[in-house]
Amino acid sequence: MISHKEEFGSERAQLLQYLRSSADILVFTGAGISTGSGIPDFRGPTGVWKRRQPVYYDDFMRSEAARVEHWDYKLEGWAGFRDARPNATHVAIVQLEKAGKILAVVTQNIDGLHARAGTSASKLVELHGTNSYIECQTCGRRSNPEPHFENFRQTRRPPVCECGGFLKPATISFGQNLRVDDIKQAEEFASKADLVVSLGSTLSVYPAANIPLIAAARGVPYVIINQGPTEHDELREVTLRLDGDVAEIFPSAVAKAIL
Ligand SMILES: [Zn+2]
Repeated sequence: MISHKEEFGSERAQLLQYLRSSADILVFTGAGISTGSGIPDFRGPTGVWKRRQPVYYDDFMRSEAARVEHWDYKLEGWAGFRDARPNATHVAIVQLEKAGKILAVVTQNIDGLHARAGTSASKLVELHGTNSYIECQTCGRRSNPEPHFENFRQTRRPPVCECGGFLKPATISFGQNLRVDDIKQAEEFASKADLVVSLGSTLSVYPAANIPLIAAARGVPYVIINQGPTEHDELREVTLRLDGDVAEIFPSAVAKAIL
């Protein structure tokens, strides 16, 4: 049996081939693409969860002390998120979109950097929510985070909506379900893509990690680029696996693919 590697030469050449020959790419991204923008990888060896206990959603809704803890945790990370800038990987994805090759970008990241880089809102699904705005848990009203954080910094009192509802950064908390509309939209994209590329994800968090598999199950090529192992590495649906720094591999391949 001839492997893809032998058939197409180097793995990078094959990546280039896939990017060139696809018109409806689904890009799936995880924390590994944002570490270059200074966003901490929460699950890594120096991740935030080594220091802090996550606040579960039910506790947030039930307990003022839990809300204080959650806002304190979010305040700690806020300046870093606010000031983070997209890196070469986010930009390369936007370049692919401008070249008419992106069907969708489905991300696990909560840093808002795809939107900031210029990925169209209609093509972007942020499965785990975003730190880019605050959301009322009762009426759903969205607002700008900065004044709320400033207020909390001074008063240590978690902000409350005009409607009386609790305000929370619009990220999916532990114990909180993903938004049904987001999952449906991501699944729909996965059912139409002609290539799926996973960037910087260990593919270990579900249901998010199902999205690339839905596309791959249809027989479209499935490319994984990540530094270190992923939970999909042994699946036969994976057609190409590149191990290494996404920022070093992906942007240069995109630049060649859209020449
Ligand atoms: Zn409200």
